Amino acid sequence: MTRALFIVDVQNDFTEGGALGVVGGAAVAAGISALLAAHAGEYGTIFASRDWHDEGNDNGGHFATDAAPDFVDSWPVHCVAGTAGADYHPAFDTAAVTFHIRKGQGKPAYSIFEGTGENGETVAQLLTERGVTDIDIVGIATDYCVRASALDALEHGQRVRVLRDLIAGVAAESSVAALAELGHAGAEIVDSAG
Ligand SMILES: [Zn+2]
Repeated sequence: MTRALFIVDVQNDFTEGGALGVVGGAAVAAGISALLAAHAGEYGTIFASRDWHDEGNDNGGHFATDAAPDFVDSWPVHCVAGTAGADYHPAFDTAAVTFHIRKGQGKPAYSIFEGTGENGETVAQLLTERGVTDIDIVGIATDYCVRASALDALEHGQRVRVLRDLIAGVAAESSVAALAELGHAGAEIVDSAG
């Protein structure tokens, strides 16, 4: 078994005080750093993703520029490449990260599988090259990018665990629904090792 960790979108704009701040986001950032301090060595590869949108356009309708955002398909402007909002949250210690994945350049991108590494590699390629069989997933937001990343990981043939104490969602109802959906799809919903 070769286990990888996906750390999804632990960015300033998705945590308290950010453009699209999720309650509990800062605590998730700190909790992930604690997980890494104790258990980073158990992961053969650690991926961290960032939403990384273009400045000056609506990124394929992802940014609500003409009307109010519906918080389902259109969102306030967030995670514009190179801005403080797109940075990792300061409580997330990225020292153990193997691959930094960027997604959403000019278009909506919820799943980490839609992103690429610093040399243009896809996540699917990297998982295959590294013989990854199992993935733990943490990060933000449960009901959007965590959900989409977990579904794509299952689709890729991975055994998937979502660490439920290290995720935070946009809304309670859709987060509960997302975890139920992931459970039905074959993911395990577990507590982190702490
Ligand atoms: Zn986005």
